Amino acid sequence: MNKYDSLDDAVSAVFGDDIRIIGKTACAGGDINRAYAVTLSDGRNAFLKENSADNLDFFEKEITGLDALRKTGAFSVPEVLAYGTDGVNSFLLMEQILPGKRIQGYYSDFGRRLSIMHKADCSEFVKDGKFGFLQDNYIGAGYQYNTPEESWIEFFREHRLLPQIKRAERYFDPLMLRKIDHLLERLDFILIEPDKPALLHGDLWSGNQMPGPDGRVWLIDPAVYVGHPEADIAMTELFDYLPEEFYDGYFGGANRPYGYKDRKNLYNLYHWLNHLNLFGSGYLGFVVSVVNFF
Ligand code: ADP
Repeated sequence: MNKYDSLDDAVSAVFGDDIRIIGKTACAGGDINRAYAVTLSDGRNAFLKENSADNLDFFEKEITGLDALRKTGAFSVPEVLAYGTDGVNSFLLMEQILPGKRIQGYYSDFGRRLSIMHKADCSEFVKDGKFGFLQDNYIGAGYQYNTPEESWIEFFREHRLLPQIKRAERYFDPLMLRKIDHLLERLDFILIEPDKPALLHGDLWSGNQMPGPDGRVWLIDPAVYVGHPEADIAMTELFDYLPEEFYDGYFGGANRPYGYKDRKNLYNLYHWLNHLNLFGSGYLGFVVSVVNFF
């Protein structure tokens, strides 16, 4: 993937010397970057994300994440065309997904594909059956540590919950801090190790999937790492639920595994903490209610 010193250079290199951007339509939905559907002077389209120059790393990590998803062969993901910075802004130029009409069975197909992705070989992303990823990345704008660990539970405690709890410490009174400590000590009794490590999308809320031109699911905006597959399923139930066909497709019609509901709350505590750290005290109530639940 080539890196460019300006968006104009990137557009010329990818689309042709005399091609430039003639239209930009802002897209809602993202919390972190400015996102645009762009029209080129020859009528073609592309999708552009921009941020400040010092956040170029967001885009470098997003490229690696999209590559990892693509390598599993389970999902369509947009092709990355170019990225770079002009010193003021950083940018990521990619294929625009032109949304089609959802095929019948869209959500069960989505669930089946996710189960295929979770079963895919992920030894390329972290060695020796460990949990983590070949580099740290971001969950939204939150820094996400991916230091490999042999134990999933250890990974989740050390590199998911603990860094977010440290960042959020100012929100907690001494009693809440004691409850949090107690919860961290009991993780081994609540969580379970997976049968095998799985590549996770990592940020699988409903806004990070969309129907592509083929009417099937495409995935965007990942925060990939190798972990317990239930953490991805849990995130689909953070703000809302996907239609039940998704879960039927994923679990092959079987019920959610025993104890999943408790584990789900714990996995989603990571995301509530991240929201608390990124967006402020409006999310404190969610964090406190999960901690009190245990
Ligand atoms: P952020 O990194 O700020 O979270 P997203 O990647 O979620 O931004 O993108 C914001 C919105 O733009 C998405 O919700 C989606 O609707 C749309 N979008 C993202 N990527 C594409 C793409 N490649 N083609 C078309 N639309 C896209």
